[in-house]
Amino acid sequence: MIFTKNFNYIIKQILFFGLFILFFDFKIQAQKKEEIEPTGYVIELYNLEDKKFWSPPFITERVLVSSPFGWRSSGYHPGIDLALKRGEPILSVFDGVIKTSAYNAGYGNYIVITHDNGLETLYAHLDARVRAGSRVRAGQLIALSGNTGWSTGAHLHFEIYYQNKLLNPEWFFDFSGKITVRSQFIRLPMQIILPKGKLDRW
Ligand SMILES: [Zn+2]
Repeated sequence: MIFTKNFNYIIKQILFFGLFILFFDFKIQAQKKEEIEPTGYVIELYNLEDKKFWSPPFITERVLVSSPFGWRSSGYHPGIDLALKRGEPILSVFDGVIKTSAYNAGYGNYIVITHDNGLETLYAHLDARVRAGSRVRAGQLIALSGNTGWSTGAHLHFEIYYQNKLLNPEWFFDFSGKITVRSQFIRLPMQIILPKGKLDRW
């Protein structure tokens, strides 16, 4: 009967060891999952039930992306260039308040809007523009497209920020066809660390 006793003991040990391994494996798996899905903040871009809408930045349905966000030979491009004719209506993409309406050498006439959802958007190379301080809804006319500042042809230069961190507009909008917003919720951070050196503000 000594054999049976030992046998039981060994089985118990094996079971115990197995549970031990399973427990730690589970912990490791949980850790891996956290690394893959980093905790961040989630922005609700729009909410149709709450009448918080979104809009493309202009009426024209299909436009050419004449220069994407990011590095190019002349420097770092902090926005996206969308080929438009001169004088096309430029629209606020979400509800918000016009924070800046001004002129500088790079952007020409430009507007910055602080949106209720926490984002900021910048629209540059404009012709006419509305004044700062006014409240706007998504889809509301804020300016007309133009060719002011450092610009070699009429286009809209469009930037998106969150807490002063630059973001790629193509994370939020799909400009490849009829312009659509990518999703109701966007998980951040997806921030761009601006490289030291030249910024192409056009
Ligand atoms: Zn540009």
